[in-house]
Amino acid sequence: MKKLVCAGEILVEIMAERIGQSFLAPGPLVGPFPSGAPAIFIDQAARLGQPAGLIAAVGDDDFGHLNIERLRADGADISAIKVHRGAATGTAFVTYETDGSRHFVYNIKQSAAGLIEIGAEARALLAGADHFHVMGTSLFSPEVIEVARIGIETVKARGGTVSFDPNIRKEMLDLPGLRDALHFVLSKTDVFLPSGPELFILAGATDEESAVREMLDRGISAVVIKKGVQGAVHYDKTGRTASPGFVVDEIDPTGAGDCFAAAFVSFWLRGEVPEKALRIANGCGALAVTRKGPMEGIASLAAVEAFLATARTGAPA
Ligand code: ATP
Ligand code: MG
Repeated sequence: MKKLVCAGEILVEIMAERIGQSFLAPGPLVGPFPSGAPAIFIDQAARLGQPAGLIAAVGDDDFGHLNIERLRADGADISAIKVHRGAATGTAFVTYETDGSRHFVYNIKQSAAGLIEIGAEARALLAGADHFHVMGTSLFSPEVIEVARIGIETVKARGGTVSFDPNIRKEMLDLPGLRDALHFVLSKTDVFLPSGPELFILAGATDEESAVREMLDRGISAVVIKKGVQGAVHYDKTGRTASPGFVVDEIDPTGAGDCFAAAFVSFWLRGEVPEKALRIANGCGALAVTRKGPMEGIASLAAVEAFLATARTGAPA
């Protein structure tokens, strides 16, 4: 089976217990939960049985070890996760507004996550990789952009493929080098996985079909648009395939997009038709939101298949 590699931030997430709670006053918190978009992605792929490894950096602290142990237990290749003495593992503190929006206090760039590099272990991991996945959240400094560039170039030189989940908000585009990095990544992308409005950040067009056409004309083979509870839509040169989401009680939306992307890419690498890859991915995304904590809803392939056997679909996109 093809091996997937991703590079980027490992974090713990610590969340406000109550909806509407603010960090401007003391209040109850829950966590730490293992997190970081690249870690969520790799953990979900590994749980689906895909060979998957992560290039990352943590501190020599409980937050770092919590993450490494979770990834190890779920079958991920952790050989290229570097433990830095004297640096602290990255953190994300999150509050939930009554309208469903989330607010984050991050410590990523100044944490061990900012020390990520391509060392001997990362080179060894990339030497056996067939596919490289890029998370837009991981392009937060010139050093980590360089890590992504080496990952992409190494895997492409081996005849491998690249997927890209932009996972960014418009406000982030002013980060130094980010816009150029996004265009570089897009120029190497085979599978593009934006969610909703992210499609338009890198396109000139303002309607979905035209923006997708621009992406396909750039040489991208598949564009998969994540649509939350409505599921997802897949486009390639042969046409459009919509696949509905599954009805679940949403407890915590964080991580759904990463689980979805991991599942879609894993089944795309196995050569499955879009309908099948989208169905498994929508199942993983739905299960992800049913648990508090970004990695707590990650399910094995057997558990996803059991869920899909009885799950009810919502309205299609
Ligand atoms: P993230 O917050 O992790 O960045 P995202 O914005 O990238 O998420 P979404 O479209 O919110 O991506 O979710 C990804 C997938 O997860 C959806 O396509 C869908 O399959 C599933 N999903 C998300 N939310 C729900 C929900 N409330 N009910 C059912 N499925 C959901
Ligand atoms: Mg996302």
